[in-house]
Amino acid sequence: STLPKDARIYVAGHRGLVGSAIVRNLRAKGCTTIIERTHAELDLTDQKAVDAFFAAEKPDYVFLAAAKVGGIHANNAYPAEFIRDNLAIQTNIIHAAHIHKVQRLLFLGSSCIYPKLAPQPMKEEHLLTGALEATNRPYALAKIAGIEMCWAYNRQYGTQFLAAMPTNLYGPGDNYHPDNSHVIPALIRKFHEAKASGAPTVTVWGTGTPRREFLYSDDMADACVYLMSLAEAPYTALLGQDRNDGLAPLVNIGVGHDLSIRELAEAVAKTVGFTGSLTFDTTKPDGTMRKLMDVSRMTAIGWQASTSFEDGLKSAYADFQANVIQKP
Ligand code: GDP
Repeated sequence: STLPKDARIYVAGHRGLVGSAIVRNLRAKGCTTIIERTHAELDLTDQKAVDAFFAAEKPDYVFLAAAKVGGIHANNAYPAEFIRDNLAIQTNIIHAAHIHKVQRLLFLGSSCIYPKLAPQPMKEEHLLTGALEATNRPYALAKIAGIEMCWAYNRQYGTQFLAAMPTNLYGPGDNYHPDNSHVIPALIRKFHEAKASGAPTVTVWGTGTPRREFLYSDDMADACVYLMSLAEAPYTALLGQDRNDGLAPLVNIGVGHDLSIRELAEAVAKTVGFTGSLTFDTTKPDGTMRKLMDVSRMTAIGWQASTSFEDGLKSAYADFQANVIQKP
C-alpha cells in the first residue's frame, strides 16, 4: 500500500454520499490527516479560493467526490447548473492538484458518461463511441471533460490522475428529496410515507422496465481507497501511460449485475414493509433502458463489492429512519 497513515488526504465533497463514505473508510484504516472543507468554508467553483486552499494545505492525495448531482428530474430541471458547477469544480481542483504537486488524484463520475446505446455490460473503451442519454447530458459531458483533463495532465505533466466511474450509488446520508433524488432514496421515502399514511398504492416513475445496477456507498468508498492505495505498477497500468491503445485512465466500479425498476420497487417495498400496490406513471421519463457496468478492470486488480443488495437496502432504510424521519 502506498497510502501512509500520516498522508495528507483531501476529500472534496466529504458531506456527500461517496465523500462521507470515503472519510469513514480512511478513518477506519487509521489515516490521521483527512482534510475537509464545507461548501461555506470553500467554494470549489472559485478558482482563486481553490488555489489558495491547495497552497496552504498541500494535500498528497485528493479524492474528487465534490459535484452537483441529482436524479433524472433534477438533471432535467437544472441543466445549466449541472454543466457549469461540475466543469468549474473539477477544473479548479484538477489544475490545483497539478500546480501543488498532488501525488495521486481520483476523479469520480458516473456511468452516464457512456453512450445511451452502449453495448452491455459497458466497458471503459466504450467512452465517446456514441450519443449520450439526453436527460443527463450536461452532467455527463462535464464528467467526460474531467476524464479527458486527467488524461491530458497525465500525458503533459506526468501527473497520476485516475478517474473512477461508479454505477448508481445508494447508502447512508443519501439525498431523500421527493423530486430531485435518485430512485432508491425516492422510493424509500415514498414507500415509507405510504406505509405510515395507509395509502393503498405507490407511484413509481416510468414503465418499470429500465434496468439499473446499484452499488452501496461504503463499497464504493472501499473501491476508491483501494485504488488510491494500489502499488505503483498496477496503478500506472490503470493510467495506461505506457500504452498506445487510446484507453482513458478510467475504471468502472459496480457490482456486475442489475435489476428492473419494477424489481427494485418490489425490493424497497419489502424492506420498508409496504404491502400495497405499485402504479407506474408513464408520463415520467424512463431514461436509459440499461446501464450495466463491466467491472473486469476492478476484479483484475483484486477488488469486488461485498455488501448484498438486501443488506444495503436495510441499512439505507435504517439511515432514513434515524436521520431523516427523526429529525425535524
Ligand atoms: P438515472 O439512473 O440517471 O436515470 O436516475 P434515477 O435514479 O433518477 O432514475 C432511475 C430510474 O428510476 C428511471 O427510469 C426513473 O424513471 C425510475 N424511477 C422510478 N421512480 C422514481 C422516483 O420516484 N424517483 C426517481 N428519481 N426515479 C424513479
